[in-house]
Amino acid sequence: MTDLQPPASHFIDGAFTEDAAGDPIDSMFPATGETVARLHAATPAIVEAALASATAGQAAWAAMDGAARGRVLCRAAGLMRDRNRALSLLETYDTGKPLQETLVADAASGADTLDYFGGLAADLTGTTLPLGRDWAYTLREPLGVCVGIGAWNYPTQIACWKAAPALAAGNAMVFKPSEITPLGALQVAAILHEAGLPPGVFNVLQGGGDVGAALVDDPRVAKVSLTGSAETGRRVYSLAAQGMKQATMELGGKSPLIVFDDAGLDDAVAGALLGNMYSAGQICSNGTRVFVQRSVLAPFLDRLKARVEAMIVGDPRDEATQLGPLVSETQMHRVLGFVDRGRTAARLVTGGHRLDRPGFYVAPTVFADVTDDMEIAREEIFGPVMSVLSFETEAEVTARANATPYGLSAGIFTADLTRAHRMAQRLQAGTVWINAYNLTPAGMPFGGVKASGFGRENARAAMESYTRTKSVYVGMGPVDAPY
Ligand code: NAD
Repeated sequence: MTDLQPPASHFIDGAFTEDAAGDPIDSMFPATGETVARLHAATPAIVEAALASATAGQAAWAAMDGAARGRVLCRAAGLMRDRNRALSLLETYDTGKPLQETLVADAASGADTLDYFGGLAADLTGTTLPLGRDWAYTLREPLGVCVGIGAWNYPTQIACWKAAPALAAGNAMVFKPSEITPLGALQVAAILHEAGLPPGVFNVLQGGGDVGAALVDDPRVAKVSLTGSAETGRRVYSLAAQGMKQATMELGGKSPLIVFDDAGLDDAVAGALLGNMYSAGQICSNGTRVFVQRSVLAPFLDRLKARVEAMIVGDPRDEATQLGPLVSETQMHRVLGFVDRGRTAARLVTGGHRLDRPGFYVAPTVFADVTDDMEIAREEIFGPVMSVLSFETEAEVTARANATPYGLSAGIFTADLTRAHRMAQRLQAGTVWINAYNLTPAGMPFGGVKASGFGRENARAAMESYTRTKSVYVGMGPVDAPY
């Protein structure tokens, strides 16, 4: 194997751990199809070891002062920043995303989150309620052992976004990355332990949906946070409900990005490109329905086409590369299926084919004359495929933007301040960007509404979602009973 081969498949109780009896999981570099590491799915013995270790580790971790927990997370953030280049390259091999992106968006975002929740860990406060002679107060307690399950598009970032708030609040976490991108989370675990995390508090194990389901189903688990498709979300949420467990569901989307005729057109084109081509379009919050006001449709499409055709598509290890391959052959064929069906209904502006090179590359693709009923305007494609639709009025586009089962994000490009904020209120989405797209700072809650899920990652909201409130009523005088 290559030097990307980790010491073992799992990280449990503070150490790399192997059980070669588990089904093999090959980590493939999507730009070449070459296998860069071979791991094994967790066996029942590994699942048991992870949950037992997390249960034991959590009690001691929760008993620590929040500030001390926070220092561990902040130290880990520093280590991640020191090793950003190596972690970014690993992420590039794991996912195929260009190094140009992974250097700024993956371990870097993970480090920001660790720092943010490291700072908040000392600030897990309750409330007091004066009641005349008596009084009451609330305590925010950790839930216990939480499970994190990741998607394949941001393996390092997702591990950090789930671990940081959970650990800051005093929980332990067992994290299962996607079987398609198993490598990044192991490094997060190793770094957290190097930073002083006690054994058992963050365990990583590998496997597919069956391993994820075994974790969610275990009675020792208090909460699950999933990042994945809406279909998986329904399954995991139902399973969690059987055990009356808490859940955060970060699911898919088909988000609208709306361009009014008064918008800075180059900025709007830039936003649409960021919201459709970054990570080869494999981002849940992408604005894949680009609604452009009819009077600026022609210049918008001209500028968009020119910029798409100038994109540097290539080896993701080359820092000049702007668009890499899709994560897997399966995903590539799925995307090409949408593109082939799309071209029979809409007008292909550019792209629309597999690239003639090794690896799982789809040319950056733009469709125009897309209507609301077309498959490419309804289904999450998760590839570098943009659908451009046109509209006339604000009321019309608001109704059409909301006419989807999803509600993860939305974008508005306009110079009209009042309209921007009016629409931000009316759009059914967990996040609305005004004259920007896909920016997710650690202090801003992120999550969906409708079929895109519920619960929030990042910000105080995330840390609170890993706690429960206990009310304590304090009687200060004689007990007045009528008996
Ligand atoms: P997926 O739903 O196929 O898998 C997600 C994870 O769930 C994987 O780790 C998988 O092994 C696990 N899983 C599958 N079945 C399970 C089960 N029955 N029980 C427990 N775990 C199970 O998603 P994917 O293809 O890896 O990722 C793409 C999807 O993720 C897209 O729909 C995308 O929009 C979504 N996504 C959402 C966000 C967000 O924050 N909202 C972020 C990234 C990706």
